[in-house]
Amino acid sequence: MIALRGATTVDCDCAEQIKERVKELLCEIKAKNRLDENKIICMIFSGTSDIHSYYPAKAAREAGFYSCPLFSALEPEIDGSLKLCIRVMVLAETSAPAEHVYLHNAAALRKDITQIINIALDGPAGSGKSTVSKILGKKLNILCLDTGAMYRACALKCLNEGVPANDEAAVAKIMEDISLEVKYADGVQRTFLDGKDVSEDIRKPEISMLASTVATLRCVREKMVALQREIASKTSCILDGRDIGTNVLPNAKFKFYLTASPEVRAQRRAEESRAKGFNVPYEQILQKIIQRDNQDINRKIAPLTVAGDAIIVDSSSMTVNEVVAFIENKIQEKI
Ligand code: C5P
Repeated sequence: MIALRGATTVDCDCAEQIKERVKELLCEIKAKNRLDENKIICMIFSGTSDIHSYYPAKAAREAGFYSCPLFSALEPEIDGSLKLCIRVMVLAETSAPAEHVYLHNAAALRKDITQIINIALDGPAGSGKSTVSKILGKKLNILCLDTGAMYRACALKCLNEGVPANDEAAVAKIMEDISLEVKYADGVQRTFLDGKDVSEDIRKPEISMLASTVATLRCVREKMVALQREIASKTSCILDGRDIGTNVLPNAKFKFYLTASPEVRAQRRAEESRAKGFNVPYEQILQKIIQRDNQDINRKIAPLTVAGDAIIVDSSSMTVNEVVAFIENKIQEKI
């Protein structure tokens, strides 16, 4: 079951317009969420105290919503709230993500769900970006774009084609006709390289350093950044990477830089790899993390660095839930 929210406004307190706007709102909610009427469990309306001429619930019945229970309530008069406004909460039996509908300036009520929101989450390897990003994405009902996966796919392409990741001319050649797509299955990112799902292959340890090397090249970054910007311009999303706040989306409203000491990050990675059944020594992981940090921080193009307006979160002694709660609070404060 999901709860769909909607709101609209009327220009004046007149029965005809209330009927018309309620009908328009409900039809839009139904269409956007591909709902059959028999999937609607109930609808609860509220109207601001300047609406007297018609019950929104009655307007809904007349608009053809015959079977579900309906209820209308009066909102208290609050200073500064939107005038002549009708809100609705529709409970429906569906598991698809909710598409909320705000019409006729009512979007001002819920900027968090009506605006395109981009959240930049940068930081070094092992700082917890992808874990935090997945939890936050679910909570905020927005997409997560793991931009590292895209550089990893480029690295895999080099490996498959036998091209050294630091040979700029050769890499530029294979980047000309690379097909790289990011798709989502049940909200989870899948990365496709030349039509093949490579989401698992790009996680192999040997790809990490190769990705970092290939990510130093302009021909690679230009292509990936264009793709990332295109995705971010169409939908609300949280992008995790190294240069999101500094380079990909310098105007992002929300920017976080997640970090932790190299020792803590190596410890986390060692535990992850043990859980997967590998036994990579901690010292080796630590050395690789430091090496990759150095390459990411010191490269010429879009190096890993903290954006001037990013909030730094040092997760060395924080739990994942604490990090998520901290970031979520900061977002809510600013919306
Ligand atoms: O985050 P992940 O470990 O998957 O990233 C792999 C590599 O891709 C990083 O070490 C970094 O060099 C590169 N990368 C980047 N810019 C991003 C994301 C990742 O340069 N936005």
